[in-house]
This record gives sequence, C-alpha cells and structure tokens, in this order.
Amino acid sequence: MAITVRVKYKHKYIMTIYKQRYFEHRQNANHRGIPFELTFDEWLQIWQDSGKWQLRGKGKGSYVMSRVGDTGPYKVGNVYINSHEQNASDARRGDKSTTDHSRKISDALRGKKKSAIAVAKNAISQLSRPKYTCQHCDKLISGAGNLKQHIASKHKEIE
Ligand SMILES: [Zn+2]
Repeated sequence: MAITVRVKYKHKYIMTIYKQRYFEHRQNANHRGIPFELTFDEWLQIWQDSGKWQLRGKGKGSYVMSRVGDTGPYKVGNVYINSHEQNASDARRGDKSTTDHSRKISDALRGKKKSAIAVAKNAISQLSRPKYTCQHCDKLISGAGNLKQHIASKHKEIE
C-alpha cells in the first residue's frame, strides 16, 4: 500500500473512502456483466500511479478507469486511467459499430425479402408450371395440385 498517513484515525478514514470506491466500481462492473479481476491493492495502485485520483469522476476534466479497447475484464494489463471525455467517445464508437452491425443484418434481411433472384426464380417456376383448364368452369389453373384443390373446393358436389 502506497499511502502513508501518520494519524491513525485519518489513515483509517482514507482507507474507508478508497475501499468504498473500489467496491462501488466492482459492483458497477458486475451490473454491466464485466469481469472484475482487480484486487483492492492493484486497483488502488493503478489510481495512485496515474496521479489522477483527485480528478476521478464523471464530469468534464475527470478521469475514469477504462479497459483497453473497451473489452475484456478489469484486470492488471487491461486497464488504464483515461479522461472521461475520451472514455465517452470510445463508448460512442462502440455504439456506432453496434448500429452498423444491426444495420447490416437488417439490410441482409431486406435483401433476402426483395431478392431479385428469388423473385425471378418464383416467376420461372410459375411459368414452367403446366396450366390446366378446369373441366367444370373453364378456369385456367396453374399446377396439377392447384387444379385438384380447386375442384375439391369449388366443385365438391360434382366430384
Ligand atoms: Zn372449376
């Protein structure tokens, strides 16, 4: 532990604040489903090395602990102290790529729906299907199955 405070009471008080922030951070990571693998000592050391502890927070000009590339667990080697603004813009980039991804999926689905190839294939199959004239009402029916169905439903009594 890098903190040296002479007054015992004050030392205890400072420890409490640090520990409190540590537990808050760990709990917050848990809520976000991010693995938190920093011990209290490691966590505190990172903050102390950064010299930004006093600026820790979420406002303009404050600093937060970020993960490299905003992925993976909070652990030594994957975290650094980052300005809040930079962290927020990293997060926005993350959102953008998610949006891009979902747009690609919806584009693909839309493409599938309106695929020119599918439309053409369907038209060809309709064309190549033999046509029959209903013997009972002279209606032109495409496909033997459809004719059977037509007779069964429209001319039930006759059949
Ligand atoms: Zn008919």
